[in-house]
Amino acid sequence: MRVAVLGAGIMGSAMARNLARAGHEVRAWNRTRAKAEPLAADGVIVCDTAAEAIRDTAVTITMLADGGAVQAVMGPLAGELGDSVWSQMSTIGVEATARLAALTERGGATMVDAPVLGTKEPAEAGQLTVLTSGPPEGRERCRPVYDVVGSRTVDLGDAIGTASGMKLVLNTWLIALVEGLAESILLAEGLGLDPEGFLDIIREGPLSVPYAQLKGPLMIGRHYPPSFPLRLARKDAVLAIDAAADAGVDLPLLDAAERQMRSADQAGHGDDDVAAAIEAGRDP
Ligand code: NAP
Repeated sequence: MRVAVLGAGIMGSAMARNLARAGHEVRAWNRTRAKAEPLAADGVIVCDTAAEAIRDTAVTITMLADGGAVQAVMGPLAGELGDSVWSQMSTIGVEATARLAALTERGGATMVDAPVLGTKEPAEAGQLTVLTSGPPEGRERCRPVYDVVGSRTVDLGDAIGTASGMKLVLNTWLIALVEGLAESILLAEGLGLDPEGFLDIIREGPLSVPYAQLKGPLMIGRHYPPSFPLRLARKDAVLAIDAAADAGVDLPLLDAAERQMRSADQAGHGDDDVAAAIEAGRDP
């Protein structure tokens, strides 16, 4: 199948590479072309413009930072998708998803709402969980793509935005884990206890959380190579807080976590992994 991948960041690059290795004809575009160029070694055709990348493709994937980026790239192209089904896989929340779906429909094309769960390493291994909602025939067209980039596809029905809503629920859980882990480690450090000992005690039993074993050592070692950049996690917290406000739901824990991430971002950790949220509680 001919597939366009718009956005060659951490996630888009891994997805494009896996699709090309699986035998699909992949055309990639990235605003900063240099970041997409290494994909050529895996047989990906790197294009100069997004319009060129999507031409005559069966599926167009967007894997861009946020709703503003997706709007900037796809707004002008909504009428040019032709027969290509647009699989919107960035995390952009419910409101932007609905807005872009309406725009696509007006252009006569089909959009599938398909955010993913999983970070850099699962993306590289083709082990993402893909959440999907939208027109059934669009989801069917995209299935071979999802089977390559992910190990599990969860269909959430025909209503566009359902998958993006569930993605916000999942990231609310993820951010709560990050903040809880950060505060537990800060407390251990403050009490003069070994934070590694804390991680070791929760390695087994009902309090064991693989995510703690993944992010805990980064927090303790204060070393944050980005798998899930903090600025994107904060963006997701804001999306979830806004969606909760619209639904009349109070999320005090997420509010607090967002403030901590904002503070870490302002201290220069925006491009670091989300584990750097702990730095909000440390002396600079
Ligand atoms: P990333 O590495 O920061 O890549 C972001 C991409 O968006 C880059 O290609 C960037 O282009 C592009 N971009 C940003 N602003 C743009 C604009 N105004 N116009 C055009 N392109 C723009 O991010 P990522 O980790 O791949 O994440 C991509 C999406 O997946 C995000 O919505 C994120 O929340 C979601 N997600 C991430 C993870 C994760 O663990 N990393 C997991 C699940 C979902 P340049 O290279 O030119 O800056």
